[in-house]
This record gives sequence, C-alpha cells and structure tokens, in this order.
Amino acid sequence: MQYENNQFIIFYNSNDKNIQHLIASLEQKSKEIMDFFGLKNIHRKVIVKIYYSIDDYKKHLIPYLEEMGETYHEWMIADTMDDNINMLELSLCRKLGSHRDETIQDQMQTILHEFAHICHHELLGENNSHGHIWFSEALATNLSGQDYGDDKIICTYEKLKNDFNNAPNNYPTSYLMGKYMIENYGRDFVLNLIQNWQLLDEFAPKLFEETKMFYSKRNMK
Ligand SMILES: [Zn+2]
Repeated sequence: MQYENNQFIIFYNSNDKNIQHLIASLEQKSKEIMDFFGLKNIHRKVIVKIYYSIDDYKKHLIPYLEEMGETYHEWMIADTMDDNINMLELSLCRKLGSHRDETIQDQMQTILHEFAHICHHELLGENNSHGHIWFSEALATNLSGQDYGDDKIICTYEKLKNDFNNAPNNYPTSYLMGKYMIENYGRDFVLNLIQNWQLLDEFAPKLFEETKMFYSKRNMK
C-alpha cells in the first residue's frame, strides 16, 4: 500500500494497524522540525519505507554500515542511510531485546527522529555527519521529543566522537548534550554549528565537559 501527501510517500502493508499513528505524527510535528532548521520545504517528497522482516531490514542496512566500517547492532531499527526513512515495523522491534518494550509512541518519535536527520541532510546538501555522529543524534533526539533525561554520561568524549555506535549510553549522552546546547547556546548558534564543522570540532569537547558537569551536579541533588 502507499500513502502520499504533499511531503511524504509512505510504503506499508495493508494490515499494518500502526501506520495511521505514524502518518499523524509526521503531519502534526514535521513542520516544527523543519522550522527549527529554517527549512520552508524539502526539495523532494520524502519516502518512508516500513520493513516487515528483520532479515530484509538487515539486508538493506548492513551494506551501508560496512561501507562506513561499522557493524550491525540489534538496537538499529530505523535509518536514513539512502536518504529515505527506513523503519522496522513495531511488532518486529519488540522481538529484539533492546526494543522489547517498544510502544507506538516510541515509533511516532522514531519517525520524527529520522525526519530530523532528513532535514539536517537537506540543509547540508549531503548525508554526512563529518565525523560528529553524536551531533546529528543530539539534534534528532531533541527535535523528535525523545527523552533520555534520566540517563547519565558514562563514556569519554573520545569514545563518543570516534566510536559512537559502541559508546555506552551513546544516544542519552547525545540527547543531554543537545538539550544543554539548545537551552544554553540557542538555535542560531546550533544552526551555525551545522554549517561550520571547524567550529563544531572546537566546540564539541567543551560542550561535552559542560554538559557532564551540569548533569552530574543535578544528579547529586
Ligand atoms: Zn539518529
């Protein structure tokens, strides 16, 4: 089946009961995410593809990971590797240990998380995190309304920067850095970082320390 509006084309199975929630999530929140990036539109319709087999999803994803020198992890349930939104269907996510408790609300945030990556790429004109995966994830987790606020930073900056997929608490750390950055430095500064990778190189270790300090104080209260 196919659903199409002026911004998205969504491919899904006719018996997928969750698809209306995902469409509603995009229709209600995608504009807000585009506004953050200052995007009036995306130059093409964004394709969303829902996968109904874990094997098919892995077949799609693994070649991209290999090309990047990365390996597959079972927490990987959605991506924008080909500049489309690819997502594993909810009941299949629940078969994976790390997503055992996945809810439709989680999936509604996941689709927005991936859409935030699409907007980020649209602004850059390319799908490239320039060695700062944590930064892409900081934006996507915060703009999609995901909340890792109770988690702690337990990795080093070097691990987060150089081996993101294997860094402990990688997404929560990115989330906290993104939250701290947006709240304390503001949207204009963040937009500047998106365009200026040298500035990001300089700023990132400082942000890591500030964020870690801020949240460790909070956790002691
Ligand atoms: Zn992401």
